[in-house]
Amino acid sequence: MKEVAIIGAGITGLTAAWKMQQAGISVRVFEKRDQPGGSIRTVEEEGYLIEEGPNTLQLSTQKHENFLKDLKLENELVSASPKAKNRFLVRNKTPLAAPLSPLQFLKTPLFSKKAKCRLLMEPFIPRHRDDTEESLADFVRRRLGHEVLDYAINPFVGGIYAGNPEKLSLKYAFPKLYQLEKNHRSLILGSIKLYRKKKRERTLYKTRSISFQSGLQALPTAIARDLGEQITLRANVQKIARSEKWKISWSDHNGEIHEDCFDAVISAVTATSLPFLDFGTVSPNPFKNLSEIVHPPVASIAMGFRKKDIPHDLDGFGMLVPSSEPFQILGTLFNSSLFPHRAPKDHTLLTTFVGGTRTPENAQLSPEELQNLVMKDLSVLLGIKSQPVFQHTTLWPQAIPQYQIGHGQHIATIQAFEKENPGFFIGGNGRDGISLSHCIDAGERLSQETLQFLKQ
Ligand SMILES: Cc1cc2nc3c(=O)[nH]c(=O)nc-3n(C[C@H](O)[C@H](O)[C@H](O)COP(=O)(O)OP(=O)(O)OC[C@H]3O[C@@H](n4cnc5c(N)ncnc54)[C@H](O)[C@@H]3O)c2cc1C
Repeated sequence: MKEVAIIGAGITGLTAAWKMQQAGISVRVFEKRDQPGGSIRTVEEEGYLIEEGPNTLQLSTQKHENFLKDLKLENELVSASPKAKNRFLVRNKTPLAAPLSPLQFLKTPLFSKKAKCRLLMEPFIPRHRDDTEESLADFVRRRLGHEVLDYAINPFVGGIYAGNPEKLSLKYAFPKLYQLEKNHRSLILGSIKLYRKKKRERTLYKTRSISFQSGLQALPTAIARDLGEQITLRANVQKIARSEKWKISWSDHNGEIHEDCFDAVISAVTATSLPFLDFGTVSPNPFKNLSEIVHPPVASIAMGFRKKDIPHDLDGFGMLVPSSEPFQILGTLFNSSLFPHRAPKDHTLLTTFVGGTRTPENAQLSPEELQNLVMKDLSVLLGIKSQPVFQHTTLWPQAIPQYQIGHGQHIATIQAFEKENPGFFIGGNGRDGISLSHCIDAGERLSQETLQFLKQ
């Protein structure tokens, strides 16, 4: 029977392994940590349910929905509360709800009259004229105007990538926007056309943000349950060699080295780990340049408050802070507004993110310093004057890969290696997109390509 090795039990590797198991292939997953899930880490402490890494999974296709059904997670699933539909963006030191309809857009104080008129000119703006790779910021300034960049895109990118729109590549970080302009010229007209097409073809899917009653960790736990002994934890893959088969050398928790052979290998580790894998004679240091991909540090600070100490209604998903405003935080999620049972009775959980490419040094502060920094901002933005009654801080020293201008050369390195080494497949958040749903799609892609290879 054919056997496939998967390196890394984050959501990318787990999805790939599970899909192949379903297709009847024998798999073996190697994970260097002592639990599966990678960046997905849920912790229960003092009655709070804290996500140390990602907080929400966005289901954007029926396939995602079916995946969760197949994992028997339907009954555990919780959708973001409709009460949390507002997304607050900060302007003039005030959180303002982002407009959700054309009428709200015309009325919102978030953008000036001039900015609104500029945005309405979008359908008349021509396509990008030359072949140079454009930054997200240049693209938005060109098509939508600088206020939309400063007060919508800048905070949004701070919240998703913990990154800088001036540096991110439109083509690689936001491929859908890139394609929209390429195929339809106007983002507004293109979106209307696509919406109508999907409606006609009955393929319209209403995207929704979800978690699970016991937190996001339920997802890797369910996959790991089905994979059973096919996952080896505390197994650090160090060396990869090739003769007739692929030989994987890995060390266990005692430092003992083991060797196993496989028909194919999937690497689902991050771009920070790939350059550390030793490919011996297969290729010396093939992924050296991937260490150039910037992964800024981010601190995630979960804080519990007594409800009565929060004057703001917290009637939304959370708030995002543009770099032009006089604050240090990137944004705050209103966890208790989003999902039930995130805090003990009469208490509320908020999670704030600090650091990223904007202020990497802030992420490295001590928990006490972070508390002061966060409270200074929350006291102005949400009017909270009391100290939190609970705090759980997590530092991600290399949080999220930045798909900056020139990211294409890293993708080319990966593709060239795969071409030269049939049977070795590479995925993960350095290549396929950074969100959990991108990683699930990447897991599916990896499993399909591997199955195709095994059939040859
Ligand atoms: C603070 C934070 C908040 C986020 N928020 C969200 C959010 O709300 N929504 C969202 O969609 N996304 C969010 N993301 C992004 C998302 O969580 C990640 O992009 C995604 O989880 C990456 O999954 P992955 O499987 O590609 O990699 P990882 O989760 O990093 O998994 C890779 C695994 O490989 C293992 N590994 C590495 N080297 C080896 C080796 N040599 N041998 C064996 N194992 C190895 C690692 O231990 C790890 O478990 C967030 C990320 C962070 C850090």
